[in-house]
Amino acid sequence: YIILQDIEKYYGENQVLKKINLSIEEGEFVTLLGPSGCGKSTLLRCIAGLEQVSSGKIFLDGKEITHVDPRERNVGMIFQQYSLFPNLNVYKNIAFGLKMKKVDRDEIHERVQNAINMVDLKGKERKYPYQLSGGEQQRVALARCIVTRPKVLLLDEPLSAIDAKLRKSLQSRIKEIHKELGMTSIFVTHDQDEAMTMSDTIYLMKDGVIEQSGNPFELYSSPKSNFAASFIGNYN
Ligand code: ATP
Ligand code: MG
Repeated sequence: YIILQDIEKYYGENQVLKKINLSIEEGEFVTLLGPSGCGKSTLLRCIAGLEQVSSGKIFLDGKEITHVDPRERNVGMIFQQYSLFPNLNVYKNIAFGLKMKKVDRDEIHERVQNAINMVDLKGKERKYPYQLSGGEQQRVALARCIVTRPKVLLLDEPLSAIDAKLRKSLQSRIKEIHKELGMTSIFVTHDQDEAMTMSDTIYLMKDGVIEQSGNPFELYSSPKSNFAASFIGNYN
């Protein structure tokens, strides 16, 4: 469903992605796991179209999208730092993308209410971002994303700034929404527990390369390298 073919990305002389190949099925929940600087965000930004790849091809649902405008890709992205509009309340933050698309008022209202219910923010519609906790702000970001009904949801460490207890409940909420809306999701993290509990498939990255991929059990029980073992494996 999402296919990456020989993706390479350079920043000047610095090669950040090295011949990345992967194939993700429709409805799959995938995580990119790896240490800081290994290229996770860069890969996600290339899929979203926020960065141009240096070479290689990206396919989504059978169509090549390598050079398609980000707004036409049907891909939603959530960032580590909440990127809400500070001067708009919760309702208007969520409605923003639909207004830009000239969706009519009644439909905007229905879809925004629906998204607000999904992320449990009922009653917070008139609050401004500064009046919300980090977890609430991230739920607004999630609602703002799903209200446009993307086929693909890209999440770049959305929970890393959120305390451990709340993080657990948001992990399961994200999985529920992923299933309910039938999306295909790529979740970036450097937290191995998060990857283990959430993923259908884990792609373990190191220095711009995918070191190993497989389901959480495979990675845990049969790491293929010292790196994989020290990062995720059952080493003793
Ligand atoms: P983290 O876990 O810290 O978020 P990451 O795996 O997301 O790390 P990237 O942000 O993809 O890593 O960065 C990969 C490499 O690319 C790093 O060496 C970084 O310095 C470099 N890089 C990222 N963005 C740019 C940019 N806009 N210009 C130049 N170099 C960049
Ligand atoms: Mg990153």
